[in-house]
Amino acid sequence: MRRDDFPILQEKNRNKPVVYFDSASSAQKPRQVVEAMRDFYYRGYANIHRGIYELSERSSQLYENSRERVKQFIHAADIDEIVFVRSTTEGINLVAQAYGRTHWQAGDEVIVSEMEHHSNIVPWYLLKEQIGIELKVIPVAEDGTLDMATYQTLFSPRTKLVTVTHASNVLGTINPIQEITAIAHAHHVPVLVDGAQAVPHLPVDVQALDVDFYLFSGHKLYGPSGVGVLYGKKKYLAAMPPYHGGGGMIETVSFSQITFAKTPHKFEAGTPDIAGVIGLHAAMDYVDSIGMEAIFAHSQTLLAYAQPQLAAIPGLRILGTAPAKVGVISFTIDGIHPHDLGTVLDHEGIAVRAGHHCAQPLMERFGVPATVRVSFGIYNSKEEIDKLVAAIHLAKRLFT
Ligand SMILES: *Cc1c(COP(=O)(O)O)cnc(C)c1O
Repeated sequence: MRRDDFPILQEKNRNKPVVYFDSASSAQKPRQVVEAMRDFYYRGYANIHRGIYELSERSSQLYENSRERVKQFIHAADIDEIVFVRSTTEGINLVAQAYGRTHWQAGDEVIVSEMEHHSNIVPWYLLKEQIGIELKVIPVAEDGTLDMATYQTLFSPRTKLVTVTHASNVLGTINPIQEITAIAHAHHVPVLVDGAQAVPHLPVDVQALDVDFYLFSGHKLYGPSGVGVLYGKKKYLAAMPPYHGGGGMIETVSFSQITFAKTPHKFEAGTPDIAGVIGLHAAMDYVDSIGMEAIFAHSQTLLAYAQPQLAAIPGLRILGTAPAKVGVISFTIDGIHPHDLGTVLDHEGIAVRAGHHCAQPLMERFGVPATVRVSFGIYNSKEEIDKLVAAIHLAKRLFT
């Protein structure tokens, strides 16, 4: 699918045609995104929000157009609900500090799942250290789905937030966000969803999901690194003080009194990644030109092709066999360390991840120190999966 848009796929890895199976870590970039950023740097560059000259007006307009595009892309109700941040990680930290630290006290509770990426664990752990909140954990069942029965028992009068990933970067599991949100809202508890792994794979409608906060990163959506999105319902963003202080987020400043700009600008202190925001716009246009439904269908075709072939390899164990998955497959093989397998694959030109994937609690849950993870992007093909399967057989001959 659209391989020609990705110049990097013409490159070699260890002198073999590159087979890129690490899109869950970061996706490759199509020409359309790189050219939009290059055009901006060559023909339209100026800082935003400050200039009274035409170039700066145009740059500001492009920046704000991208905000409008994000609103459409995730079906937000209002453009003021879209905050540009550096990444999913920064967005979660922003909510933890500006919302959690402002409104919570020692003994308040946050419900988090066992399958979270470290970036949806550590910011809450920091709050535990800073103000004494407690973390309650939704367990993961053997097939990689969330234990929804236990989830419902974790609420107490002290519960302040439910924070879960939309899709797991290790197991691939797509979580039932609508159901999770409905249950939390019945307890009057807001929900934050880490969409880093879902946004590149599925159409997302934050209003239909009824989430209160939603995060994603540009670089996993075939866009640039250094830009991400925090979506927050207006009533929550309005109840949050600024996270960073600096230029661009104030109305007036004196040494005795500062008044802040309104959301979303209140949260965007300093010169942002302007070209990144423009590149993100191009990335959203790019994926929509293919269609998020078609992108989802492509990953499902690759999953359905790869999973049975991998599962048939003796000693290979797939972690995460939920019925609803994004294009991510984690596995271990008896007798071969994931890093050794990763090295053999690398020598065949195949780029995969081997390690704990920033999800150590989940590794512990499954009793493994690490896995190999294969993740699919829009450019991957069945022929590449055939190469993967052949390379795994080669590794088995070498190591067992
Ligand atoms: C990659 C990832 C993150 C972190 O994204 P950054 O862009 O590194 O901030 C968080 N959660 C999940 C599920 C991820 O896959």
